[in-house]
Amino acid sequence: MAPPFDSAQGRPRSYRCEALTLKNAPLGEADLLMTLYTREQGKLRAVAKGARRSTSKFVGHLEPLTLVRLSLAQARNLDIITQAQVSESFAALKGDLSSLAKGLYLAELVDGFGAEAHANQALYSLAVETLNAIAGTPDAELLLRYFELHLLEVSGLMPELYHCVQCRHELVPGCHRFSPNLGGTLCLDCTPTDARLRPLSLRALKVLRLLHRSNLAELPALQMDGALAGELKALLTTTVEFWLDREIRSHRFLEHPRHWTKEAPLTFSRSP
Ligand SMILES: [Zn+2]
Repeated sequence: MAPPFDSAQGRPRSYRCEALTLKNAPLGEADLLMTLYTREQGKLRAVAKGARRSTSKFVGHLEPLTLVRLSLAQARNLDIITQAQVSESFAALKGDLSSLAKGLYLAELVDGFGAEAHANQALYSLAVETLNAIAGTPDAELLLRYFELHLLEVSGLMPELYHCVQCRHELVPGCHRFSPNLGGTLCLDCTPTDARLRPLSLRALKVLRLLHRSNLAELPALQMDGALAGELKALLTTTVEFWLDREIRSHRFLEHPRHWTKEAPLTFSRSP
């Protein structure tokens, strides 16, 4: 049966979607403000009325890191969740503190990179598949590196790993560096003035290439020493943070353009 339409806007008044819950926050006396990443329309903020009451039908359905099927009703500001059905609670992941911390880090990145009203099914699938993998892996640190690299890729920000981003020459093994802000690898001859250069070892470069061309199901069990694991973590988190910072600032600009007429662009992103 076709959903009832809002004749004024030509949009359905109620709709369904599949979503991963990213976070929730108290709203008013008993409501929850939910931040969701949906398969159908990307990031979505919606309200679950009365969800903080112990008798609510939503209890246990809307905690962070839960896959849910939702029914929603359109509203003037934030849409309202009318029904929620859990399809995956990730109980094993939530039962282990280290796995839970990794899951919440993943949710934070999806929140940061996901755009509202813009579906990205590759990002949705990547998030769900990585959460499943983390739940079944005691040492899931490499999974986070996999997630960060593929998150950049599905967001259109994949770093170059084979050529110098400046002169485009193919990299000579052992003679390379990395620049998060210029989009990947550089040869030793190129030193653009605005590059934030980092050293990049040959073995770290090989792991990055391997992570990029692998999928989660066939990810090899790599034995990495502390130095290599630390190098990869620093490189990928720096790159993700660089883009996140830019994205967050651009989102703020879109949401609060009046700030930009009163203040210099860099001042309102900091606390006074
Ligand atoms: Zn070069």
